[in-house]
Amino acid sequence: MNLIFLGPPGAGKGTQAQRLEERYGLVQLSTGDMLRAAVASGSELGRRVGAIMKAGELVPDAVMVDMIADRIGRPDCEGGFILDGFPRTIAQAEALDAMLERKGLGIDHVIELAVDETALLERIRTRIASTGASQRRADDNEETLRNRLAVYRNQTAPILPYYRDCGMLVSIDGMAPIDEVTSAINRALDQGAQQP
Ligand code: AMP
Repeated sequence: MNLIFLGPPGAGKGTQAQRLEERYGLVQLSTGDMLRAAVASGSELGRRVGAIMKAGELVPDAVMVDMIADRIGRPDCEGGFILDGFPRTIAQAEALDAMLERKGLGIDHVIELAVDETALLERIRTRIASTGASQRRADDNEETLRNRLAVYRNQTAPILPYYRDCGMLVSIDGMAPIDEVTSAINRALDQGAQQP
């Protein structure tokens, strides 16, 4: 089973993806984690993307498509994968379709964690305030967060109708308590992506 998680920053995609990894034996592919590892390693790619990430902007599509194509081609993805943070633009979604088709693969379900932006900002403000400066991500501040939410609204949310039209989209209330969100996702996947 191959899945995509969509939802704004702070919606809980990473937490829910980790739970699905265990339940269904999938591999979580977080493009944000891959990019942060590149920045931490000081690689050429890391030097190119660090400032973009810090500002909450998107890394160019071509870079992301190459990165995910390489990652999906590795043997640990053969049992299925969860894309967490990719695609983030329509161009990435189209490139993903073409790439998977070439590999004889496809996406089974797209899970949207739908959230209320005002409540989300409050949730993230609390998280920022309770995290020590040394543990905080470079993009974990209110200004960048507001920009990341705007980028999601303008560039990523337009992907939703694309997957809805294909009948793949399952929308889950991401504001519910974490365990309830997990149960709703499990129910949807076990029923073959019927709306819960
Ligand atoms: P995330 O951890 O998924 O919120 O990603 C952190 C940051 O990495 C984002 O704010 C972007 O700057 C960058 N990023 C991650 N995934 C992508 C992507 N698919 N396309 C463009 N930029 C990305």
